[in-house]
Amino acid sequence: MNKPSILVVDDEPDNFDVIETFLTNTQDSGQATQDYQLHYAASGKDAIACLEVFQPDLILLDVMMPDIDGIEVCKKIKAMPQWSAVPIIVVTALTTKKDLAQCLFAGADDFISKPVNRLELTARVRSMIRIHQQYQQLAAFNTQLEAMVQERTAQLQSMIFEDSLTKLPSRAFLLQELKKRLQSGQSSLALVYLDCDQFKLINGSFGHAVGNQLLIAIANRLQQHLRPSDVLVRMGEDEFCFLLNQIENETSLEPFLHNILGSFLQPFVVANCEIFITVSIGVALSRNTDQQPEELLQDADTAMYQAKLRGKESCQIFDHQMHLAMFNRLILENDLQRALAQQEFILYYQPIINIQTQKLAGFEALVRWQHPERGMVSPAEFIPSMETTGLIIPVGMEVLKQACQQLRAWQLQGWTDLTMSVNLSVRQFSCATLLADIDRILAETGANPANIKLEITESAIMDNAETAIAITKELRSRQIQISIDDFGTGYSSLGYLHRFPIDNLKIDRSFVNQIQSENRNYHVVDTIITLSNQLGLAVIAEGIETKEQLEWLQNVGCKYGQGYLFNKPLPASEVEKIYLRS
Ligand code: C2E
Ligand code: MG
Ligand code: MG
Repeated sequence: MNKPSILVVDDEPDNFDVIETFLTNTQDSGQATQDYQLHYAASGKDAIACLEVFQPDLILLDVMMPDIDGIEVCKKIKAMPQWSAVPIIVVTALTTKKDLAQCLFAGADDFISKPVNRLELTARVRSMIRIHQQYQQLAAFNTQLEAMVQERTAQLQSMIFEDSLTKLPSRAFLLQELKKRLQSGQSSLALVYLDCDQFKLINGSFGHAVGNQLLIAIANRLQQHLRPSDVLVRMGEDEFCFLLNQIENETSLEPFLHNILGSFLQPFVVANCEIFITVSIGVALSRNTDQQPEELLQDADTAMYQAKLRGKESCQIFDHQMHLAMFNRLILENDLQRALAQQEFILYYQPIINIQTQKLAGFEALVRWQHPERGMVSPAEFIPSMETTGLIIPVGMEVLKQACQQLRAWQLQGWTDLTMSVNLSVRQFSCATLLADIDRILAETGANPANIKLEITESAIMDNAETAIAITKELRSRQIQISIDDFGTGYSSLGYLHRFPIDNLKIDRSFVNQIQSENRNYHVVDTIITLSNQLGLAVIAEGIETKEQLEWLQNVGCKYGQGYLFNKPLPASEVEKIYLRS
């Protein structure tokens, strides 16, 4: 290590010699050693001029000097940022309190009175050098720390503003950029929000690694549509968003949207597979520069959600009606949560008749919402919302429980052959706890599973055939029957459906109410019934409203019927009065 450097400033060279001698170690052997590098300046001016060369760790400064005195030199050095930390010991013959105060005031760190005493000099120099070295270490450590903090901050910044998978800018970046552009008065901005259709299927069938590669490939393809001042960001998961400049109206966006949708016509080649994927697009155009970035983004998201509802590969531009619809939907969702807690869901029961014998076969349990202000609300109004929020799962189980309790009660009254049909939504059907929940309800209510029919729609089966087969088998092993509801409104064929373990087919009302007319559906119903009978499936015709419909159905061999001709869905008390008198 270098020896500490000391600059002695004194107009008298003799004084330097004295200091040098005092700071020299003389060993017993007579050999002299020096712990410091000593430098000499004969005036204040020289001292200031040679600071750079000597890089002093300490300055011993005389006060009484001809050109500028020590006090002034001290002030000047302390005012120079690069030297202000170098300690200065004033060496002075002036020892009044006033003189000393003046020295301290000028920035001196310590003082030694003349004539200099060896002990005092060596002690003060040593301690001052030590303090200075500690200060330097601390300053170096500080600089190091600052560099580390800066580096880490930069890393975090890039993590926040960049998506690590696709290397595209992130959602945070988009919001910041949008804010900047709105604040700088750019008003013709557009957000084009993209969401891949059924990306889960890709992850599910090819695995997440391929899913990730596909996202990178999509990002690369989308980037080709960027104009110089546009921005493309990855919002997260399978969502991307363009921020476009100078979009005056919807029409000027059309070519862009057309190109984007068109770019998904070609498959993506990932991991040696050709993968086709489509996107749903939501667009929001900025209205004014007062708009909040989050607001515009929310609008684009809402539009995208609407596009999704219409099916895949769709594009939707935001309008204010959507706000209203979204607001109403939120209110409804909130209301439904409360309704579940307040037990406002009750069941009505619609009779199902064996139309060949004219005898009552059983009931279909249909949920009603007994709203405190609106009265009885039909399920068509709230089931779709419960499907999206998932509330159908607890409500559906509550329905099943009430239906089983009612079935059990009627069976105890002696109506042991009655069946109870209960609707099961797609969402419930794919719920992992479905079987466990059903088992629990059966155990709690003591209802006979052989008298229970669960109604599912074709889509519940088509959405995931493998799972559907497994679940329906499990249900059947508990003796529960399975009915396909609203048959004819989905896309499945009877031949296909028959591969699933099902028992009954409910022909949709839309076929039944065209029976009298000379419509071709008339013959479709005929064929469905004949085929079902051959396949061993019991057919239930829904929505029978007229005698003609009934007679026709009886003639073509339909076994069961349900509809207003017999009765509307009724509360349990009415059912008991009309159908279950002992
Ligand atoms: P769905 O399961 O097909 O039930 C039959 C619907 O047709 C009932 O409507 C019933 O009132 C109506 N209906 C019966 N006969 C006739 C008729 O002759 N003419 C006409 N025009 N309509 C008739 P509702 O009770 O309004 O239920 C509508 C749908 O809501 C049900 O259709 C079902 O898909 C769903 N739903 C009802 N309750 C539940 C439930 O507890 N859980 C689930 N997941 N869905 C339910
Ligand atoms: Mg039904
Ligand atoms: Mg139905």
